[in-house]
Amino acid sequence: MTTPSIIFATNNQHKADEIRQVLKGRFDIITLKDAGINIDIPEPYDTLEENASEKATVIHSLTGSNCFSEDTGLEVSALNGEPGVKSARYAGEDANFDNNIQKLLLNMKGITNREAQFRTVISLILEGKEYQFEGICKGHITEQEKGTNGFGYDPVFIPEGSLITFGEMNMEGKATFSHRKKATQKLISFLNSYNGKN
Ligand code: IMP
Repeated sequence: MTTPSIIFATNNQHKADEIRQVLKGRFDIITLKDAGINIDIPEPYDTLEENASEKATVIHSLTGSNCFSEDTGLEVSALNGEPGVKSARYAGEDANFDNNIQKLLLNMKGITNREAQFRTVISLILEGKEYQFEGICKGHITEQEKGTNGFGYDPVFIPEGSLITFGEMNMEGKATFSHRKKATQKLISFLNSYNGKN
């Protein structure tokens, strides 16, 4: 039997690796690069749901294929949910993982409530219909960066139930807690039970 394939509308290799690890070969994930699509999909909206939907819709209109996208934000309680949907561009136009972290730590300076969560929204377009799945990982923001694994805010986030940051974990360790894994598991359950009538 051939493995069913699906386009994952991302240019982020870390995300593709994490999702492939959860899918364990049950679906063949084709990234934009694999599909020869070279575009930077805009994320113009104020919610993860709308941005995820936009990314999946753009790729579906380009390819006509079944596809999914995901949008993730780090929501910090003491910052009223920021950086949230703006997580990638928190430090401004020239934002990168490092200056985003520096800005976050600066804005959190002296704040004792360090509660935060990662929230992932996956948007799937299957046979022309859209479905969304959410995954949340609660935790807190550290005072300093720790670890060099993963990406984004991983070195400053400790998930609930752990003593170390995502940045100090390998991919398997991160998957034990991960927002992305939780959303992906919902996607897999859906795909496994899909009969065209969902
Ligand atoms: P995106 O818009 O979904 O690509 O993600 C927004 C930003 O959130 C990324 O640029 C990262 O800085 C951050 N981010 C997303 N997922 C993770 C994660 O799993 N760990 C740490 N940071 C993440």
